Amino acid sequence: METKTTIEPLKNWDIFKQRPLLMTGPCSAETEEQVMETARQLVAANKVDVFRAGIWKPRTRPNSFEGVGAPGLKWLKQVKQEFSIPVATEVATEKHVYEALKFGVDVLWIGARTTVNPFAVQEIANALQGVDVMVFVKNPINPELELWVGAIERIMKAGVKRIGAIHRGFSSYEKTAFRNQPQWQIPIDLRQRLKDLPLICDPSHIGGNRAYLSDISQEAMDLNYDGLMIESHIDPDTAWSDKKQQLTPAALAEMLDQLILRSVDSSDTQFVSTIDELRSQIDIFDDQLLDILERRMQIAETIGQYKKKHNITILQSNRWQEIVNKAIRKANNKGLSPEFISTILKAIHQESITHQMKVMNEHEKI
Ligand code: PEP
Ligand code: MN
Repeated sequence: METKTTIEPLKNWDIFKQRPLLMTGPCSAETEEQVMETARQLVAANKVDVFRAGIWKPRTRPNSFEGVGAPGLKWLKQVKQEFSIPVATEVATEKHVYEALKFGVDVLWIGARTTVNPFAVQEIANALQGVDVMVFVKNPINPELELWVGAIERIMKAGVKRIGAIHRGFSSYEKTAFRNQPQWQIPIDLRQRLKDLPLICDPSHIGGNRAYLSDISQEAMDLNYDGLMIESHIDPDTAWSDKKQQLTPAALAEMLDQLILRSVDSSDTQFVSTIDELRSQIDIFDDQLLDILERRMQIAETIGQYKKKHNITILQSNRWQEIVNKAIRKANNKGLSPEFISTILKAIHQESITHQMKVMNEHEKI
């Protein structure tokens, strides 16, 4: 069932000045000095629209720093008063919501480990009933769009209108260069589902390392994200959490100043007609791809009938491995990555098996 509730477009939020909306600040609030000095430097560099700091930290293993807790809220209040900027923190329980609101926190976000749990999200939603506060929902740690949409719907149903999403990547068992896989298609699909939903990228938790922040931020800007949440610490190497991915305010400013901000649209008629022409070529190729796939599946079905007649199994691993290896070799000369080719071939192969399976087992079903 779709929830029919309104989402306030980001351009109407008072915290929004220009794209990208910058939510910057340390991973965790550690001490009063660290919080105030980070805020001071970010404000001086003009690189903070909303000051973020984790007060309660969800940690994977016990015995890690789990946040300073409620005492840190008065430092956020001080940032808000001294620099006249809105402040944000993560909430995971109703108690967190009440305490954060008591100290005037303007923006709450639900962390990736909380979004996965509908009980926890509902508890937060209940605590937010009738409260006029801004809320961002981070993606769940597992790549599941429905869980993300569901969490957003729960908060919307509580009457929160200024609601947005934060894309912080998805975890995987394999060790990869990035801490969390971006899987850009998922937030893109989310935006298709919930029009007007403000979408913020969190390159810090996707990359897990400050070396990747610039590339991930640029990619987010090119995908027309509304903002960036980036962790910044006055002395990253001594940070109590996430030290590898934090940047000093000065380094953050330098990185952000180098981002290229492209516009979504152009009124230049020459540009529009060139793009239209190129897009119509893409449409033609997409149609051709579909026709080719249809024909490939028809052949697969014919093979299925033939194998059935001769009592041969569907899956023949040697033949399949040959196809993949050959395609990867060819693709290399065409500028197509081995990952892409192997993903696409796997999907085609799976569909072929489904078609052959249908043909081979047809009469048993009658
Ligand atoms: C954070 O923003 O510091 C945090 C804990 O994020 P996530 O929920 O994305 O892991
Ligand atoms: Mn962090």
